[in-house]
Amino acid sequence: MQNGGGKRILITGGAGFLGSHLCERLLADGHDVLCVDNFFTGARRNVAHLLPNARFELLRHDVTFPLYVEVDEIYNLACPASPVHYQHDPVQTTKTSVIGAINMLGLAKRLKVKILQASTSEVYGDPEIHPQTEEYWGNVNPIGFRSCYDEGKRCAETLFFDYRRQHRLETKVVRIFNTYGPRMHPNDGRVVSNLIMQALRAEDITLYGDGQQTRSFCYVDDLIEGFVRMMGTVPNVTGPINIGNPVESTIRELAETVIDLTGSSSKLVYRPLPPDDPRQRRPDISKARDVLGWEPKVALREGLARTIAYFESHSAEARS
Ligand code: NAD
Ligand code: UDP
Ligand code: UDP
Repeated sequence: MQNGGGKRILITGGAGFLGSHLCERLLADGHDVLCVDNFFTGARRNVAHLLPNARFELLRHDVTFPLYVEVDEIYNLACPASPVHYQHDPVQTTKTSVIGAINMLGLAKRLKVKILQASTSEVYGDPEIHPQTEEYWGNVNPIGFRSCYDEGKRCAETLFFDYRRQHRLETKVVRIFNTYGPRMHPNDGRVVSNLIMQALRAEDITLYGDGQQTRSFCYVDDLIEGFVRMMGTVPNVTGPINIGNPVESTIRELAETVIDLTGSSSKLVYRPLPPDDPRQRRPDISKARDVLGWEPKVALREGLARTIAYFESHSAEARS
């Protein structure tokens, strides 16, 4: 597909944070984009600037129901991604991942088209090996508060590989690690948006636990490049493939960088660690480097500065 142009591409969850950037990217590459979203965590305003483009179409639809459209390629992103959102209605979260995957795979099967699944580092759970390679099977609690998301995504991966083996479908799976950037939801409780909003409002900055747990943060533009490269691979490249930034920082370090970049007077305060919160997370991206020739380009400081600028310029919306 790489810059070939002329395809009609379906993006489920296209009005969300990552989906809206993917819509922009594929339109810029010369494709037609059909954005499907039920606006649970996404919003029309995330793609409002694309509506005047005749090659862009927005459809309000819930992927847990069948969808009959004609497209050449499918990116399946529909699923709430932040713990606050996916735990709000956990049964619907599992349905979205599992029934949504079945419907989109059924669509891909009927049309005989390629389909890519946005999976997650959460399939590794609270990992016992570090960094995580794609071969690691994970350490996931099947009955906890995060399970609707983790197990839903694990089952979606199973479905992708079974449709491939059973129906010879061309499937691709990427495992996304923590990603941040403009259009993150300001109130979704994720650490980057929380810390930036708290710093901009000069409120206390909340560190859960001792703040020594680690994450690796990937800027959204880098991630989208990884998606597009994965979709463009030859049929026998199935993944799963880790897409994320291998530079690891503690949550405390992240907070200090946000305070520095915003010049905020906020103080750090400590709050209880949520249940099942992974202690460490960092992708091993050797496979992405080898297979996709991909690695992140945007450093954390630079990406945070761009994200802070977005939150500042959308502050009225963000504060609501
Ligand atoms: P997001 O919440 O901004 O986007 C998800 C989109 O899916 C929203 O627009 C939402 O309205 C839509 N959606 C939810 N349920 C739906 C349904 N039943 N039918 C149709 N649309 C539905 O989150 P995001 O960060 O953009 O995440 C996009 C995808 O990437 C998700 O599948 C998520 O699991 C995955 N992911 C994201 C991250 C990250 O750090 N952002 C990390 C790992 C995986
Ligand atoms: N499906 C869809 N759009 C299509 C084709 C199928 O939404 O264009 C859905 C349909 O609801 C079906 C699911 O995808 O239940 C799985 O399709 P598949 O062909 O694998 O299974 P079957 O139709 O035999 O249940
Ligand atoms: N976190 C924090 N303060 C916050 C929000 C989150 O210390 O205000 C921590 C959280 O406990 C976790 C890390 O930051 O250890 C990343 O949390 P997020 O919800 O963004 O992502 P995930 O846990 O899914 O990786």
